[in-house]
Amino acid sequence: MVKVGVLGLQGAVREHINAIERCGAEGIIIKKVEQLAGIDGLILPGGESTTMRRLINHYHFLEPLKRFGGQGKPIFGTCAGLILLAKEIAGQDDAHLELMDIKVERNAFGRQRESFEANLAIKHVAPDFEAVFIRAPYILEIGSTVEVLATFNNAVVAAKQGALLCTSFHPELTNDDRLIAYFVEMVGDAKKALAT
Ligand code: GLN
Repeated sequence: MVKVGVLGLQGAVREHINAIERCGAEGIIIKKVEQLAGIDGLILPGGESTTMRRLINHYHFLEPLKRFGGQGKPIFGTCAGLILLAKEIAGQDDAHLELMDIKVERNAFGRQRESFEANLAIKHVAPDFEAVFIRAPYILEIGSTVEVLATFNNAVVAAKQGALLCTSFHPELTNDDRLIAYFVEMVGDAKKALAT
């Protein structure tokens, strides 16, 4: 069975585990660096990216997470997780994992739109996905090898680059599992490819 970890330092962890298991994979909460060796793919959940980064430093996760992505193992960053994946963050000198060739703006939808839902067409996934945005970032710029999967009001809110997937919104907060199922499939494909 495909094993999908969820970084369990902070944020919406349990909801992702439940969704992964509904998609037929094993969900594992990752709290220690050593656990990364036992999983085929990883979800970086939503929450608060600066708090998450503090905990990543505290538990010495930064380099191991970079290596995990560098090996071609799939990572799905949702909301704060998208911010963690980005090479560049608008208005900040330093980024976090710097794995994905995107520039992001934090809290990009403004105060009056702290949280909202929108129906999105997501390429490869669903023509009608109810997306939950909570103090969400969006993607300002993408590199040439990044594929845009969804936009909302002309802003990029979902993208893919090789084995890296990210969304501005929280796919785990509804009972529509199509996006997590898509990621679980990516993890299964990568596991086969890395084994040969
Ligand atoms: N605004 C948060 C941040 O910058 C992300 C919000 C979320 O993950 N729901 O980390």
